[in-house]
Amino acid sequence: MKCPNCAAEVTGRFCEYCGSEMKQEAPQIINITNNYYSDAPNDRIDRNFTNVEPIPTTQHYKLLAGILGLTLGFIGAHNFYLGYKKRAIIQLLLTIFSAGTISIIWGIIEGFIILSSSTYRDANGNLLK
Ligand SMILES: [Zn+2]
Repeated sequence: MKCPNCAAEVTGRFCEYCGSEMKQEAPQIINITNNYYSDAPNDRIDRNFTNVEPIPTTQHYKLLAGILGLTLGFIGAHNFYLGYKKRAIIQLLLTIFSAGTISIIWGIIEGFIILSSSTYRDANGNLLK
């Protein structure tokens, strides 16, 4: 590390040339900044940034989503609730044009999947509560 006072290369805690104390923080901050902007795939900092969980916005309840799927799944209620609007509209349209047969089964299956899964996420990417 370089001495902040005289720029000599220093290995200990104090500079051998001018005697000033080395501050550990400053060089590390510079390293983090460099790593953050580098594209290295195995970079420690980069990995930390990509593994960040989505910021919770609206919390959706698993039990409510599951029950909506089992009871009103044929009109896409559980998917409307979780924010999967496209899927919900498809179920709603299927109900209108196929007298409900396909989407009733679809809704019940999705209801069971939601209730039995611990990794089901809403449209925002948040785990269900
Ligand atoms: Zn020095």
